[in-house]
Amino acid sequence: MYLYNSLTHKKELFVPNHPDLVKMYTCGPTVYHYAHIGNLRSYIMEDVLEKSLRYLGYNVKRVMNITDVGHLASDADTGEDKMLKGARREHKTVMEIAKYYTDAFFSDCDKLNIKRPDVVEPATNCIPEYINMVSTLLDKGSAYIAGGNVYFDTSTLKEYYVFNDHDQEDLAVGVREGVEEDPNKRNKNDFVLWFTKSKFEDQALKWDSPWGVGYPGWHIECSCISMKHLGEDLDIHAGGIDNAFPHHTNEIAQSESYLGHKWCNYWFHVHHLNTETGKMSKSKGEFLTVSLLESKGYDPMVYRLFCLQSHYRRNLVFSWENLDNAAAAYQKLIAKIASLNPEGEVNMETFEGLRQRFVSALNADLNTSLAITAVYDVLKAKCTDATKLAVLKDFDEVLSLNLLSAAQKFRDAQKKEEAEESDPEIEALIAARTKAKKEKNFAEADMIRDELRFRHIEIIDTPQGTKWRRV
Ligand code: AMP
Ligand code: ZN
Repeated sequence: MYLYNSLTHKKELFVPNHPDLVKMYTCGPTVYHYAHIGNLRSYIMEDVLEKSLRYLGYNVKRVMNITDVGHLASDADTGEDKMLKGARREHKTVMEIAKYYTDAFFSDCDKLNIKRPDVVEPATNCIPEYINMVSTLLDKGSAYIAGGNVYFDTSTLKEYYVFNDHDQEDLAVGVREGVEEDPNKRNKNDFVLWFTKSKFEDQALKWDSPWGVGYPGWHIECSCISMKHLGEDLDIHAGGIDNAFPHHTNEIAQSESYLGHKWCNYWFHVHHLNTETGKMSKSKGEFLTVSLLESKGYDPMVYRLFCLQSHYRRNLVFSWENLDNAAAAYQKLIAKIASLNPEGEVNMETFEGLRQRFVSALNADLNTSLAITAVYDVLKAKCTDATKLAVLKDFDEVLSLNLLSAAQKFRDAQKKEEAEESDPEIEALIAARTKAKKEKNFAEADMIRDELRFRHIEIIDTPQGTKWRRV
């Protein structure tokens, strides 16, 4: 599989460190609010990456954190703590907020068929691991204490801006405006590993440490949680592009200084979902959730298809019109699959041929829009319907668009409709009405019409005869 690696700035053949296992880490949600559909774009594309790897024959161990502590509203180690802000907003404790929004996150993931990573670890579970890493960094001279906090010293690194081919605009996302300079820092890019002195005296979660009671900086959690479950080397680290700087940059700095060797080989960054006015973010602008889409009548699968139709390294613009197009495409696709006849032989040669196109699409830097085109190729192929259905079932291991189950539901609904349409009692009433009208017995015809109305049946007189439907 060829994957674009943000670290080397090119597409590379993916080769895991251990041939039998891919170790994959994903930055998890900060659970102070619902995930918006921009966040979920990242998780959908990471889910497709994991499923593609499995589909291509790899074993995958995937780990994800839940940020339930220490994430400041500004990534420059100042600003307000996001979790604390959420707790204040809702008059709850930080842990109540964390629990509520973690559950909400996984419920959204379930709706979107996003598989749960093999290991999910809340940041608050790993305090001893952070203390160990920070102590080692201090011992090695990669960190220093100033004003009570422990900082990572970026001047000890050979290279800091490892993802430097990103747009200035993308890099700037991490460094918000209006951030005060921290006078304790020796270098502009130094970042906090452990806070003891902070301006949030009411910080809800604090732990004892060799440097005093405090709490961890945000970046340390991903390094430590990854190493706790995946060891000292990592194949793929995934996250949204806004995390490339400073979060992932800082993760690399501290992890490699701690380990004394290279840590992660491939960095997979999903680009943003934007609204017509800019990046979708939890703090500003249009905040769209899966529940909101559902309340407007959209099947979550429509949003999944919308994401898969475009490449993960392109910004994707959300508009209701674009989503409607995806909804129409999904409906048409499912109706077409529903019309296939499952009886008959599966031709394995054709199966393999069609599968090859799909595999090539995934191998080409996870080209999901080409993978969707491969679905349409299946529908157009000259082979038995049974072969088509077998191939679509196989593709859906990666796409997870409920292709077959939605088609089954569509067929069931159609059958129900047909059964309703052939209701003999209603048919008899309509026939009696038609007869009455022919005999100019309009009082009788009107009575029958009222009877039908009473039964919630609407009748429509057309030149081809009287049609009816339930209302
Ligand atoms: P957060 O909960 O803010 O820590 O973000 C969770 C994930 O969503 C991270 O991987 C972010 O990089 C990603 N993310 C945030 N905003 C967007 C967006 N507008 N489009 C795509 N991914 C995003
Ligand atoms: Zn992270």
